[in-house]
Amino acid sequence: MLFLFLTISIVSCKNSEKKAEAVKKPAVKLYQLSGGSIFVKKLEVFSQDTTYTGQTKQFADAYYVIAHPKGNLMWDAGLPEQLVMPEPYDEPSGVYRIQRPDSLVNQLKSIGFEIDDFKYFAMSHSHFDHTGHANYMKNATWIVQENEYNSVAGDSTEVKNPAVAALRKVEKITGDHDVFGDGTVVIKYMPGHTIGHQVLYVEVEGLEKPVLLTGDLYHFEENRTHKRVPSFNYDAEATLHSMELFEAFAKEKNAEVIIQHSPKAFEKLEKLLKI
Ligand SMILES: [Zn+2]
Repeated sequence: MLFLFLTISIVSCKNSEKKAEAVKKPAVKLYQLSGGSIFVKKLEVFSQDTTYTGQTKQFADAYYVIAHPKGNLMWDAGLPEQLVMPEPYDEPSGVYRIQRPDSLVNQLKSIGFEIDDFKYFAMSHSHFDHTGHANYMKNATWIVQENEYNSVAGDSTEVKNPAVAALRKVEKITGDHDVFGDGTVVIKYMPGHTIGHQVLYVEVEGLEKPVLLTGDLYHFEENRTHKRVPSFNYDAEATLHSMELFEAFAKEKNAEVIIQHSPKAFEKLEKLLKI
């Protein structure tokens, strides 16, 4: 009888510990900003075949601020600030018409932040529409997959890609990375679009579901539905494998998937964050 009583007490004690843990989760806030508008004039580059030949599409180009009690993280960096101009710019490849709405400083100011408020900076990958204002983040620690770092910086100190040349505080990672050590903000390694492409999982205070930011694993809804891989991806097979892992993880967490280049997803997240 005494034994039974003890067992019950231990079980109930464990349950209350669990409850206390759930309550103690830190208050994480998420902000979404527009790093640009991208009009795709040749949508065919977003598949391996001719599916999209003759089509065009409007893309968003969001970047994000994640405020955690232990520090702030910026995720992605939009288009370069030279593109803050009255008319959109037709870049030389003929695929994209691009424009950025405002500078980093002004956009951060609109949500009550400054450049030096950031402890960490990370990007889904290092293409031009994600590295735009990266060099301003030089006082933050750049969290990057080691293979992605090597692809833009090499093993010398000379950084090959000028868009990230000012970033000298570097934390190289290999695989998934729990940014604040409590499971609320986790970088997930999802290679294929580039060699070290990654996505971001965030448990936002007050939201029913955690948010899963896709990076460029998918650029728009149809490519998620049909698992289509852009022609310019680093590794098509690795991309498909990452898509599988991503979908399993999204399901396991019952996550709200936000496709970062989708204007629809931008609006949806805007609404969710306002509630
Ligand atoms: Zn992109």
